[in-house]
Amino acid sequence: MIQHKHLDDPQTREVIVIGGGIAGLSAAIYLGRAQRDTLVIDSGHSMAKREPVVENYLGFPKGVSGEDLLKHGRKQAERHEVEFVEDEVQEIAAKKGSFIVVGQERSYRARRLLLATGIFHLPPKIPGVKECLGHSMFFCKDCDGYRVRGKRIAICGANDEAVDYALGMLHYSPCVVVATNAEKPRWSRKHAKLLKEYEIPVHREKITGVDHRKCQVRGLRLKGATEVKIDCIFTTRGDIFHTKLAKSLGAELDRDGQIEVDHCMRTSVPRLYAAGCVTPANCQMIIAAGQGAAAAQVINRDLFEESIANHSLRRFREVQLEQEKTVPEKRRKTRRR
Ligand SMILES: Cc1cc2nc3c(=O)[nH]c(=O)nc-3n(C[C@H](O)[C@H](O)[C@H](O)COP(=O)(O)OP(=O)(O)OC[C@H]3O[C@@H](n4cnc5c(N)ncnc54)[C@H](O)[C@@H]3O)c2cc1C
Repeated sequence: MIQHKHLDDPQTREVIVIGGGIAGLSAAIYLGRAQRDTLVIDSGHSMAKREPVVENYLGFPKGVSGEDLLKHGRKQAERHEVEFVEDEVQEIAAKKGSFIVVGQERSYRARRLLLATGIFHLPPKIPGVKECLGHSMFFCKDCDGYRVRGKRIAICGANDEAVDYALGMLHYSPCVVVATNAEKPRWSRKHAKLLKEYEIPVHREKITGVDHRKCQVRGLRLKGATEVKIDCIFTTRGDIFHTKLAKSLGAELDRDGQIEVDHCMRTSVPRLYAAGCVTPANCQMIIAAGQGAAAAQVINRDLFEESIANHSLRRFREVQLEQEKTVPEKRRKTRRR
């Protein structure tokens, strides 16, 4: 139960976006341009930072680094007066039509909340592979299959998904192996048959290390002193969804643990929205950006409808009426001339 006598941020924001990754930034740009008082709270661990060259984002024929996309996205949002704070949200409570958001550093309040907290891809349990992340160790065949065309590919995993990955990779290269890292295979009979049908070698030994130079994988070292020559690794250990906050507010999650949203990115909790990889989206940057934009548009529309319902658009109208008092007079003068 959140007990807060005062808020560190005295404003009740129209919108708080939690997460300043790709989805959060795209939403922030739209909300800023819709002139909504918007605050982005970000702990700074966007997955996009791990991709040195994004090749599948619209508008960059030579690719763009994930860091650059984030940097430019933030600048673009700041141009439209969106505010940013570096903080990690710990708790949220819904109270009288608004949300109280408690970060490690400060507390905040907003009328609408967008969760764009992303996920974390679990790296394989292989010593020494971290340096190769995004260079020759990948998580996603849709992002990276193309860049490993014709190369020797190892899929690390022991479940149906690992087999599906191996089969999918045959589209890009004839040279695909599965390495279980001494885990007992949990794939179905159907998947075992497919491995046989497509003659995909399966290495069942413990992986003791990775031979790599300048972030490029060259081989998998297996227990028993064998080494399998490979050029890249894909892993299927699964994801951790950052949904703790959504759960605490009672938002519905799907079977995989992703936040359920409707086609407009509304969650099952009123005034709470979600976008990006934390939802059942296909986890791609361009999709996260699209979802962020869609969420921002519906938030803007919902706020607009709320202000119609509670007659608060009137304050703008009053300014206009005040100015219009002088308009007929001016027009009359012009006609006389
Ligand atoms: C190695 C690697 C390579 C990839 N390559 C590609 C590629 O080539 N092309 C492609 O399309 N996609 C790629 N992806 C996927 C891409 O990074 C994601 O699709 C994208 O970043 C998702 O955006 P998002 O906004 O949902 O999450 P993120 O960009 O991960 O942003 C989530 C943000 O929320 C913040 N956050 C989380 N919890 C809190 C909290 N409690 N309080 C405050 N802030 C919080 C995090 O710090 C983070 O900044 C890659 C991913 C990885 C790991």
